[in-house]
Amino acid sequence: MLKKVLVANRGEIACRVIRACREMGIRSVAIYSQADKESLHTLIADEAICVGAGSNGDSYLNLANVLMAAQISGADAVHPGYGYFSERAHFAEALESLGIKFIGPPVKAIEGMGDKARAKEAAIASGCPVVPGSDGVVASDLEALQIADQIGYPILLKAVAGGGGRGIRRVDGPDELSQLWKTAQAEAQASFGSGEMLLEKCIVEPRHVEIQIIGDQHGNMIYLGERECSIQNLRHQKMIEEAPYAFLPAEIRRKMGEAAVKVAWSVGYQNAGTVEFLVDENFDFYFLEMNTRLQVEHPVTEEITGVDLMQLMLRVAAGESLPIKQADVQLNGHAIEARITAQDPDKDFAPSTGKITEWRAPGGRGIRMDTHCYAGYSVSPFYDPMLAKLIVKGKDRAEAVARLQSALHEFHVAGITTNIPYLRRLCATPEWIAGDFHTGFVPQWMAANPAGA
Ligand code: ADP
Ligand code: ADP
Ligand code: MG
Repeated sequence: MLKKVLVANRGEIACRVIRACREMGIRSVAIYSQADKESLHTLIADEAICVGAGSNGDSYLNLANVLMAAQISGADAVHPGYGYFSERAHFAEALESLGIKFIGPPVKAIEGMGDKARAKEAAIASGCPVVPGSDGVVASDLEALQIADQIGYPILLKAVAGGGGRGIRRVDGPDELSQLWKTAQAEAQASFGSGEMLLEKCIVEPRHVEIQIIGDQHGNMIYLGERECSIQNLRHQKMIEEAPYAFLPAEIRRKMGEAAVKVAWSVGYQNAGTVEFLVDENFDFYFLEMNTRLQVEHPVTEEITGVDLMQLMLRVAAGESLPIKQADVQLNGHAIEARITAQDPDKDFAPSTGKITEWRAPGGRGIRMDTHCYAGYSVSPFYDPMLAKLIVKGKDRAEAVARLQSALHEFHVAGITTNIPYLRRLCATPEWIAGDFHTGFVPQWMAANPAGA
């Protein structure tokens, strides 16, 4: 087993890693920025090393400092969490050269899924249906016009290096293509350092359904059911996720699971990963991308499978075989996660910062809180606005829905603005309660119910 793990991240996901380590008798090392001295992850780790000033560039994304912290601490492995260095092949490579394990997939697998164009190639090669679109990178707006003519509007322009819902533009007709091409490309260049674009048919009113997979170093790989993540904000960022997708026929679940394993297998994947699909009203599914890391919404899968994904990641990285086979994976009950953020949804999701003066979190049966926040904690402007993940579990979707509504009702935070009142309204809509929605639901609902209405 591993002896000491450095967590190259912050916030709730760093707490998640540290807790799993403690349960397994592994020493944990937190890294923190000067703005994060009081963050829970800094306080609960066995050791903590400051890696720089407040900004991400100075601290959590300061490669030399993070590598030095790993070396000085004597850690035998590093968990990257999500975001930050989690999908950067050069980080995994640098650790390897220092003789430190990267808790995640092999460098080659990160590279193989690193950009959306290469990932789609891998999916096609392994026989998985993909969203129709360009054959890789599109060279110019003229070429985009020709391809769009063939596949038909609406289409999406997407940054090949994109992520987190950024660098995506919908184009409804040829007359707006050139202009949107320019803005999308400029945004991609600014956000991701690459202006490479691909083009995809826009699937109208799909569901976002993703498959959790995990593989060991001995040739075993399984899928752990799906997560439904169609409740997304205006920038395609997930807000509420659930497992399972209540209406998914078992036969389609099996097909998607097997397709996901096959795609992952084709790039030599090991450890935890997620294959994202869009599913249309006929339950036809299309590969979107693969995220080569643990995802924000992994807890809903843990709640319905009983599998601790974080512990499993650590075991697999240490060289252990998967303790379960595909036939052992059973889905029980229904779990829903709501992302609690320091944002004002009525003001275009503007971030809110400052001291949390009151923090009264919900509790009781079937409630799980993953967070680094508490009363007295100051939310800094430097980082992602996510404060907590509120996860509920019920025997079926109806019970989970009622439990989430009740938990949101109880949840009280003062000192900063949060999205809690907004989530209460969203979770009271008949569509959400009935599970009758798609990725375009939230934008439609917000347009019909403007701020303050
Ligand atoms: P996921 O893909 O895990 O469902 P998202 O798509 O919402 O999560 O995340 C968008 C991107 O932003 C991902 O690369 C994710 O790792 C990163 N990210 C999300 N939340 C945070 C956070 N609190 N801190 C750092 N990075 C984050
Ligand atoms: P990211 O890397 O930002 O997560 P994804 O390719 O995973 O980008 O897409 C994020 C979201 O954007 C999807 O969940 C979906 O809502 C929307 N989207 C992406 N591609 C398409 C498409 N071809 N048709 C319709 N919606 C799409
Ligand atoms: Mg995605």
